[in-house]
Amino acid sequence: LQETAQVAPEIAASIVKELENQRKRVKLIASENYCSMAVQLAMGNLLTDKYAEGMPNHRFYAGNENVDAIESLAAEEACKVFGAEYANVQPHCGADANLLAYWAILATRVEAPALEKYGETNLYKLTDEQWKELKTALGNQKLLGLDYYSGGHLTHGYRYNVSARMFDVYSYTVSKETGLLDYDNIEKKALEIRPLILLAGYSAYPRKINFRRMREIADKVGAVFMVDMAHFAGLVAGKVFTGDYNPIPFAHVVTTTTHKTLRGPRAGLVLSTKEFAEALDKGCPLTMGGPLPHVIAAKAVAFREAGSPAFQDYAHRIVENSQALAAACMKGGLEVLTGGTDNHLFLVNVRNLGITGRQAESALHECGITLNRNSLPFDPNGPWYTSGLRIGTAAVTTLGMGNKEMEELGAIISLVLKGTKPTPDTKDPSKPSKAKYEVQADVKMEALKRVA
Ligand code: PLP
Repeated sequence: LQETAQVAPEIAASIVKELENQRKRVKLIASENYCSMAVQLAMGNLLTDKYAEGMPNHRFYAGNENVDAIESLAAEEACKVFGAEYANVQPHCGADANLLAYWAILATRVEAPALEKYGETNLYKLTDEQWKELKTALGNQKLLGLDYYSGGHLTHGYRYNVSARMFDVYSYTVSKETGLLDYDNIEKKALEIRPLILLAGYSAYPRKINFRRMREIADKVGAVFMVDMAHFAGLVAGKVFTGDYNPIPFAHVVTTTTHKTLRGPRAGLVLSTKEFAEALDKGCPLTMGGPLPHVIAAKAVAFREAGSPAFQDYAHRIVENSQALAAACMKGGLEVLTGGTDNHLFLVNVRNLGITGRQAESALHECGITLNRNSLPFDPNGPWYTSGLRIGTAAVTTLGMGNKEMEELGAIISLVLKGTKPTPDTKDPSKPSKAKYEVQADVKMEALKRVA
């Protein structure tokens, strides 16, 4: 860092402050983790200086012998740890992985001359008009995925994401009564819509998914079954999700990020059956410019780590911690959606405490706990203020926390949330503000003492 400080002291200072921040507060953000030093060092080095457009042994630049070796090994390690037939390790992030997967599915399953025309273009460069023309030429293919408010991700067809330009988007929700996926209902929807892609996976759903059942639904309507396991890839690699709950044997295409429960560098990955390999191999330059060789090297390291017995132990402890923390929150009087969790995250409803998710998030941050607000199913508060919190235990599990710490954290979270009140809205003081709040001074003092 000294070298960095000589050139850009402000940046070096911010990195040090971030270290302080991540050490001082307890991190319960479900999509974050702490990757190992082995991963960090594989990522922060001279490999960043290399251009490697194309695929291993088929590059547009000379001198890629070492990058070829790194990328081939990363793909091999990914296939080994997940038991997949094919891996593309180039996506820079989860959104890239999804874009590439969508395109590869269109290119493989839809016969349309338009694909030839656009197959050579970087998809990020298409104008709105070109997207419209392309979608029509592709026969307005349909995507059916989990609704954003039920825990689906923006890249699953949210109107501001490019996926909504590629497809006519339809969604299924969780049940209003139970908060759970209702497979009979999903099947009914799939039969009505007959999508090209049936998509499973989530950013905020606290339960397991029965992938065997989802594949049966996909087969009934002739859809490609795609799974976005961005959040729970670590639980798949760590053999927590096995049998019907492991997506790999059932999905045609599986996408993921590599930095959440999987604990690798910030990046993406696509796994698939052989059927989609040829189209996925065209990912660069279709959805990307040059791949990032340093990040691919770090992915190889992370995949190898994920194949170890220690990783399996960590993955099982994530879920034990998540269940213990959810139980502690309920003991503290909080409402946990679906009454608990099967994975690394759970959702808390804060609306019945008279505050918004945004107020709850800020109050906890002030008291030493970092997590994020989240929309709840059918949320009347919208995606900005929200009515809920998403709480995840991957990062604290990496730090070695266990049952005792989860009980204490649950008690602190409950204490802070119950000691937080909205202040009056500045425009209309007869109403509570949706953003401004006050944490009782004694509550804050006690919380900070206990977090420290
Ligand atoms: N898919 C899911 C289910 C996610 O939760 C996320 C990110 O939170 C993504 C995709 C996108 O990942 P990235 O932020 O790396 O693009």
